[in-house]
Amino acid sequence: MAAAPRRRTVVCDVGGVKIGFGHPIVVQSMTNTDTADVGATVAQAAALARAGSELVRVTVNTEAAAAAVPRIAEGLERAGVRVPLVGDFHYNGHILLKKYPDCARALAKYRINPGNVNIGKRHDDNFRTMIEAALEYGKPVRIGVNWGSLDQVLLTRLMDENARRPEPLDARAVTLRAMVESALRSAEAAERYGLPHDRIVLSAKVSAVQDLIEVYRMLAAECDYPLHLGLTEAGLGTKGIVATTAALAVLLQEGIGDTIRASLTPPPNGDRTEEVLVCQQILQSLGLRSFSPQVSACPGCGRTTSTFFQEMADRIQTYLREQMPVWKERYPGVEELKVAVMGCIVNGPGESKHADIGISLPGTFEEPKAPVYVDGRLLTTLRGEGIVSEFIGILNAYVAARWGGGTKSHDIIESSAEVFGSQVASRS
Ligand code: SF4
Repeated sequence: MAAAPRRRTVVCDVGGVKIGFGHPIVVQSMTNTDTADVGATVAQAAALARAGSELVRVTVNTEAAAAAVPRIAEGLERAGVRVPLVGDFHYNGHILLKKYPDCARALAKYRINPGNVNIGKRHDDNFRTMIEAALEYGKPVRIGVNWGSLDQVLLTRLMDENARRPEPLDARAVTLRAMVESALRSAEAAERYGLPHDRIVLSAKVSAVQDLIEVYRMLAAECDYPLHLGLTEAGLGTKGIVATTAALAVLLQEGIGDTIRASLTPPPNGDRTEEVLVCQQILQSLGLRSFSPQVSACPGCGRTTSTFFQEMADRIQTYLREQMPVWKERYPGVEELKVAVMGCIVNGPGESKHADIGISLPGTFEEPKAPVYVDGRLLTTLRGEGIVSEFIGILNAYVAARWGGGTKSHDIIESSAEVFGSQVASRS
């Protein structure tokens, strides 16, 4: 077991987005378009940013990609999307950053993979060149170790040293140690070449949950750099989301991680923004940040045999999602709203009372009425076909009253009742 995480006090500024001590954990993402395709990359980066990605990374793998980066930045600016771009470099970053100064300038951060910049060979020339570019253009870097491209010189040396120990560790333990060493030694080298301590972010990504937890615990115990957290190659669908959540939740709960990314594989033509929503949901579920109103809905059971309950839960969830772009501007703080949508009286009223506003259906075989609770108190009981519309009406009044004018809690019920009271009362 690694030592306790070191108290983190360093803050790294990435194009105005602060990563580290005292700042909210930053959500980031990466495009999967051909970076040289300016139009497609601008469109996807804008979609990611609009979904809530606070940094967007693009691969910079070719000369055409490097030449496209400033045009992508301009395209985003023209579209009114302000999001710092991070350049992901492998193998030829030292060449591209030198040859394309506009690219080096347009990026807010450079990701350097120490496993493929010849660090440890040829006097670290390539790594040093990239650090010099970061110095010249005043940019921070992420030293991003990945076990799929781990520094083989370092790994071989640690394996050899391990073999000479009286009680050698297993290969997995040495590999994880090599990842930590690679990140820390590269950061030391970057500082030796002049990069300030607060312009370095570290990551050390693996694809297995327990390995990731172990690596990051070591990293967090041995340095105070801000940490970029993510399970690499998390995979498709449910597996990718669950594995990412399992790994990140453990570490975030321990206070480890300053910025996160979910490396999900979207289905063909799938929506890339899912990785942003997953990150947001992880942070919101852990109570670390709020992004959108949360709906607690029961799973339904034999007491909800009709589809009415699922349709109601879906309509309310969709309604909330659709309102958020407007609500966010009009009602600051509304992302903290908690709504309960429950299928029957077993847990319905109890869960509804714990939410800001909740509705509970009667269950299939019970009297068709739906009590609505606001701030823990029964506001009214809805009946008939218009239950969902009426509930949405009450929801609107609640949001407007609570986040639209600093109304006190007890007034909200009065306000909601006032707006919908006559209509509600006539049906009660
Ligand atoms: S609240 Fe009622 S409908 Fe929902 S899961 Fe529980 S018992 Fe079933």
